[in-house]
Amino acid sequence: MQIARYENSFEFFSCQVCKNPAHGKHFGAITCRACAAFFRRSGTISKSVYRCDQNNNCEILKNGRFACKKCKLRKCLKIGMDDKSNF
Ligand SMILES: [Zn+2]
Ligand SMILES: [Zn+2]
Repeated sequence: MQIARYENSFEFFSCQVCKNPAHGKHFGAITCRACAAFFRRSGTISKSVYRCDQNNNCEILKNGRFACKKCKLRKCLKIGMDDKSNF
């Protein structure tokens, strides 16, 4: 139940995707504005046309950025972001 633990640490407001200061709840997860905007644009991975050169295994970079958009989107989905959720 990782999600529940994140919800309990809501006060830290750390983006669940990139660890930058978060802005609030977007699509069911605590994220910053940039990640929320990214997810809104990207939709679900099945609709996505992004390709990953690393077998979908890119690591998050130290500055919170991702080496590729597909892996960023994968992370969004992993933490429970859902484009059908409007929070
Ligand atoms: Zn973020
Ligand atoms: Zn990747």
